[in-house]
Amino acid sequence: MSLSRANAVFERITGDDFEQVVFAHDKASGLRAIIAVHSTRLGPALGGARFHHYTSESAALDDALRLARAMTYKAAAAGLDLGGGKAVILGHPETDKTESLMRAFGRHVDALGGRYITAEDVGTDQADMDLLRRETPFVTGISPDLGGSGDPSPATAQGVLWAMRAVAERCWDSPSLAGRHVAIAGLGKVGRALAELLVAEHAALTVGDVIEARTTEAVETLGAASAPAEKIHTVECDIFAPCALGGALNRSTAAELRATAVVGAANNQIDEPSVLETLAAAGVLYAPDYVVNAGGLINIAGELGLGGWNASRAEAAVRRIYATTSQVLDLSSAMSISTAAAADRLALARIEAVGRVGDIRRTSPTLAGR
Ligand code: NAD
Repeated sequence: MSLSRANAVFERITGDDFEQVVFAHDKASGLRAIIAVHSTRLGPALGGARFHHYTSESAALDDALRLARAMTYKAAAAGLDLGGGKAVILGHPETDKTESLMRAFGRHVDALGGRYITAEDVGTDQADMDLLRRETPFVTGISPDLGGSGDPSPATAQGVLWAMRAVAERCWDSPSLAGRHVAIAGLGKVGRALAELLVAEHAALTVGDVIEARTTEAVETLGAASAPAEKIHTVECDIFAPCALGGALNRSTAAELRATAVVGAANNQIDEPSVLETLAAAGVLYAPDYVVNAGGLINIAGELGLGGWNASRAEAAVRRIYATTSQVLDLSSAMSISTAAAADRLALARIEAVGRVGDIRRTSPTLAGR
């Protein structure tokens, strides 16, 4: 690599103050991965390992950096003693994922000595995490029979429900969701679990997924109404819950919303900053995605605490999303800033305050004993 291109890489990581970016390679297995450690000021940098075929190495680096930085904010706002990191493995998960490649990746994670802790993400699953566990203790989301917390999606859905209650309190002076109409876009692992929780709360549902069988199943099993996936954001309702892919709210979809509030699990819901203005002008309350969807992270963080993961402790921790969401909404009103800006402020304030304490253990007692 020429000096100027190398400098360009450093420019990309110094601007946002990344602590470390590792380019991991293993010739025998063909592993090519990037591990980005954005911040360990609050604790080890935790973030999933994404296995994806990128159009370029530059795109892979960008994704790792963007996602790692977002994890710093998410963990900080959730009140966790964790920093932000992310790994991307370059390739097609369907054809390139082999035991040797994943184990080589696990050895690279291990070599970081706990500064980075991995988890599942797009293109990796619980079985992969179990495999990584054979190479390193610095992995979360492993199977319950290996002492892990398993699939984080139910906890994510539970967290979204707590955020909805906080928003309901703000909008309708009561945290109850009974009789509220919620439109859910995306009935995957989180969306489907959320739908079930909302039915138990006696909310009315409209659902839509690009996979029609998923919509039909929810209509038949849960008594939900349905809307085409590409139109569900236009449904007149109390809460619109994006639970599909990122970028659900762009200039055109945001302008078409007929919901009082947006509270959903999807990552990166806001396609570009001007969308926040569109929402504010329309009087739509947006609950920031990384505050709302932190339940899964809070749940897997439980694996790192003293005594390891415990269902009732994890449930209580996820419930904190109610208080965090309320705090974000209060700060947004008090300072007349967007809810997204309020969440960022809250996260940064905690990093500043707690990160200054010093001598924070970089690995948890549980991990140290693994
Ligand atoms: P998933 O892949 O299980 O489900 C996504 C669903 O969305 C699928 O059913 C898919 O068919 C559907 N979909 C795709 N495009 C759509 C569209 N345009 N309109 C309607 N439906 C569409 O994923 P998941 O684990 O349920 O996660 C959902 C979102 O929440 C993602 O953005 C994910 O990054 C985020 N998230 C998930 C977790 C978790 O614990 N699983 C945690 C935090 C954030």
